[in-house]
Amino acid sequence: MSRVYNFCSGPAALPEAVLKKAQAEMLDWHGAGVSVMEMSHRSTEFMSILASAKARLSRLLDISDDYEVLFVQGGASTLFAQIPANLVNGFESACYLDTGAWSSKAIKEAKRYTKVNVVGSSKEQNYTTVPDFSSLKLDESAAYLHLCANETIGGLEFADLPETSLPIVADLSSTILSRKIDVSKYGLIYAGAQKNVGPAGVVICIIRKDLLARCGDNVPSIWNFENLAANDSMINTPPTFAIYLADLVFEWLEEQGGVEAIEAINIRKAQALYDFIDSSDFYSNPVDPAYRSRMNVPFILADESLESLFLKESEAAGLRTLAGHRSVGGMRASIYNAMPMEGVQALIDFMRAFEERHR
Ligand code: PLP
Repeated sequence: MSRVYNFCSGPAALPEAVLKKAQAEMLDWHGAGVSVMEMSHRSTEFMSILASAKARLSRLLDISDDYEVLFVQGGASTLFAQIPANLVNGFESACYLDTGAWSSKAIKEAKRYTKVNVVGSSKEQNYTTVPDFSSLKLDESAAYLHLCANETIGGLEFADLPETSLPIVADLSSTILSRKIDVSKYGLIYAGAQKNVGPAGVVICIIRKDLLARCGDNVPSIWNFENLAANDSMINTPPTFAIYLADLVFEWLEEQGGVEAIEAINIRKAQALYDFIDSSDFYSNPVDPAYRSRMNVPFILADESLESLFLKESEAAGLRTLAGHRSVGGMRASIYNAMPMEGVQALIDFMRAFEERHR
């Protein structure tokens, strides 16, 4: 068996060292005589894994005691509804920034719960840029401001946050742990695990404790953030294996030197790929250079008729899942933390050789 370079946007490549460790522990976790999948979530063994995952994540992101770290089930899409269900209680509306496919989906779900103010949108620019923050129509009496800091499909990322008194609620599914962030600037951060954290099925949710008081009795108990915090994310059986893998990924990240160290590598990876794309008239990326994602790099071929051949040949060369999202087409290379520089270089070498053969 040989592993290939996997450019899938999610479920994405996991660090090989993590998979090997999980494999070694599969039949017998630390002398328990069973795997993590087979032990009670209330056992001391699993409770120690959960505590370790929380502690490591808190260290990696420098999360203060003002925040609760929750492991929520369902996927980031669940949070699109769960967030307004919990946080608009007592408010008339919520503000949303519209920068692409994922923020649009969040808006659609929020509309089931409250009046949504779309404070700015780059839809008219085909989501290739981010609205100027000084032009945002923020309503400071709203429940919160929601944004998606990395649009996985469009390949659009922004690091700065708008100035506002509102709690900022951010979908960081495809950017969490890839770059340094200041958690204290956010009211709530959420991230589906299957990109930079672990397997699908668990969502990291970091919520400022004062916001827990908003979660009303009308919210289903399994969805209620206050209830989840009070029960250490264990109202019912949590996705134990996903949390265990997340803990191993956090351990790996600490071994790499933490978020700052991985961010430096991520900058080099993205720079190399964008530089190559920009140097060629065979490939192009449509996103405003100021907002190009470090994690998801969409690109198109000048000659669209070569797309299926590109995918076939790249797959044969051990470069997997380079097709763009089904809604937009083209190509997309997702280069999360687990993708080494060698993988990005292999992609660039392939793209160069493909161009030489087919131009
Ligand atoms: N938000 C972003 C930015 C995403 O990239 C995705 C999935 O790729 C989602 C939300 C939805 O995640 P899930 O499939 O876990 O519901």
